[in-house]
Amino acid sequence: MSEMHQKYYEKRGAILVKNLKSRHFDAYYCATKVEALSKALELIPEGATVGWGGAMSAKEIGLMDALNTGNYRTLDRENAKTPEQQEENRKACMFADVFLTGANALSLDGEMVNIDGTGNRVAAVVYGPKQVLVIAGMNKVTDTLEDAITRARTVAAPLNQQRFLLNNPCTATGSCADCKSETCICNQILITRHCRPVGRIKFILVGEDLGL
Ligand code: SF4
Repeated sequence: MSEMHQKYYEKRGAILVKNLKSRHFDAYYCATKVEALSKALELIPEGATVGWGGAMSAKEIGLMDALNTGNYRTLDRENAKTPEQQEENRKACMFADVFLTGANALSLDGEMVNIDGTGNRVAAVVYGPKQVLVIAGMNKVTDTLEDAITRARTVAAPLNQQRFLLNNPCTATGSCADCKSETCICNQILITRHCRPVGRIKFILVGEDLGL
């Protein structure tokens, strides 16, 4: 990351932190992945039950490794051996002390957009876990909410599809065709515009490119 890029992210990060706080989210800016990991571990109490979904950025800063080897009870879907166990894990996450996730896009004025196929991730953001901790690289930040929705639909979702390789148009073309496929991964589109209870949703914005 060039110094110019770092400054650009730092300036936009400061604006976004202020705007997120005005919407009663907690928000922190960390210049690097290392700082972000340290802040995340500061915010997650030892002994907490921690679950996650759609949290590639948290994985990229090393948070899952730290939690899996630390004094926490982790609900890690990668340990599930059957579809039934995966489903149990998704439901258990609704009762977690902390739910980790990412953002498909964030508008500079502090609104988050997330798209979900199964729905467990957006459900947990809306209600259930005591705390939600969002780890997001500054590459997810757009100027407007409209741009954030466009990013989520035309960049994040087709990119994500390259991971799942389901039989949807964007798997073949890399572009969203606004499909109605049975295997469509864009079933729920959530805009999170404000936080109640105050501070339940916390953001760690990272001055590096993370996730999709
Ligand atoms: S083509 Fe379908 S699955 Fe792919 S991004 Fe568009 S709506 Fe989502």
